[in-house]
Amino acid sequence: MSIRKFIWVIPIFLFLFFLFFLFHKTEEDKVITIIKNKKNTIVGINYPRTKYGKLNKEIKNYVDNIYNDFKDYDSFLHINGKAELNIDYAYFLADKKYMSITLYSYIDSSLLTTPLKEVKTFVYDIQKNKFINIIDLVKDKEELKEKIKEELLIKYGNRSYNELLTTSYLKEVSFCLSEDRVTIYLPNYENINAPLLIHIPYSYFKIKTEEKEKEVFYYHTKIKTIDTEKKVIALTFDDGPSRYTKEILKVLRKHKINATFFVLGNKVSLYEDTLKEMIKDGNEIGNHSYNHKLMSNLNENEIKEQIQKTQEILTNKLGYTPVSFRPTYGSINKKVKQSTSMHITLWTIDTLDWKIKDPNRIATRAMKAKDMDIILMHDSKGRTIKALDILIPKLLDKGYQFVTINELEEVKQIRKKIK
Ligand code: ZN
Repeated sequence: MSIRKFIWVIPIFLFLFFLFFLFHKTEEDKVITIIKNKKNTIVGINYPRTKYGKLNKEIKNYVDNIYNDFKDYDSFLHINGKAELNIDYAYFLADKKYMSITLYSYIDSSLLTTPLKEVKTFVYDIQKNKFINIIDLVKDKEELKEKIKEELLIKYGNRSYNELLTTSYLKEVSFCLSEDRVTIYLPNYENINAPLLIHIPYSYFKIKTEEKEKEVFYYHTKIKTIDTEKKVIALTFDDGPSRYTKEILKVLRKHKINATFFVLGNKVSLYEDTLKEMIKDGNEIGNHSYNHKLMSNLNENEIKEQIQKTQEILTNKLGYTPVSFRPTYGSINKKVKQSTSMHITLWTIDTLDWKIKDPNRIATRAMKAKDMDIILMHDSKGRTIKALDILIPKLLDKGYQFVTINELEEVKQIRKKIK
């Protein structure tokens, strides 16, 4: 039989493939999240994934380099101690064309007296598809130099800054854009041990700043009836939102139930749509810190900042203020308890969906639930969606009502009163 006879099948296959990809488009990652809790190392990495390949490549290279270096800790920390790597980011699009991404890396370990911190900035022109330097954006070079000098003198005292103020030097300098200003990082200089950091107003740059109209998001509180005498159970999802969260919301909607999502503050602005959907459906949003640093390693002020920054961004962007806080890695101590008046929520059943690959096995672990249990899952994996579709109908059949954490607390209070 000649192969040629069947050659016509190829274009048909290709066409079907094309259709498959066209209609089977799941949402793309907007933020890449890597969270690991190993014996000697803790890793919490969040960084954006944009539509721009060239930019993504540079960001990923930078993150991979740090992550690979960090992996060495695992081998030489075998005696004692633990090391933590955290990578966090800031994202801003200025004038609809300048994308500014800043990565903050943080390494803490028992081998260091103070944590290592590093800032890396990327500013990318999305219309011209290229990286840009601060001189590309400036209205008048000499005016900018004068302004930088003025700011340096105020902040770091009377020194000669001439070396830092040449055009060729400034072209290499790290800077980032945010809502109301441009921030410049100048490397360590003349016995000043941290990078010099100064802010310059947008008036020095060829960047149009628009007064953003603050759009208010309205939602109706869903009225629910919960039978406090019947068994209740709470599904919770950590570390999101992610590309899978909307799919999870679909499954919850299909079975007419709600859950609680413990989200990270640094993901809020890139997943506003997902979060709005979540709230409209009647789900609860909880606070899971700003960038997933290990809470028990931080001091009280740092813990407060982690919680507060997340509360603020949710309140400002969505008009929603969480009442529950879940510490990262379930790490809870006296400092964490003292740092917040929020309700601290852990879990009673861990589905291990971050580790177990088989959705059936994940579902089986959740099926062990009893009345008042809190089930821990993550909205960062596709298999969790499948597991949900298995376990929800089964638990509904057993007579369970799915409630949010806040509702679970209410049930607890009501039952106490009746007793
Ligand atoms: Zn987490």
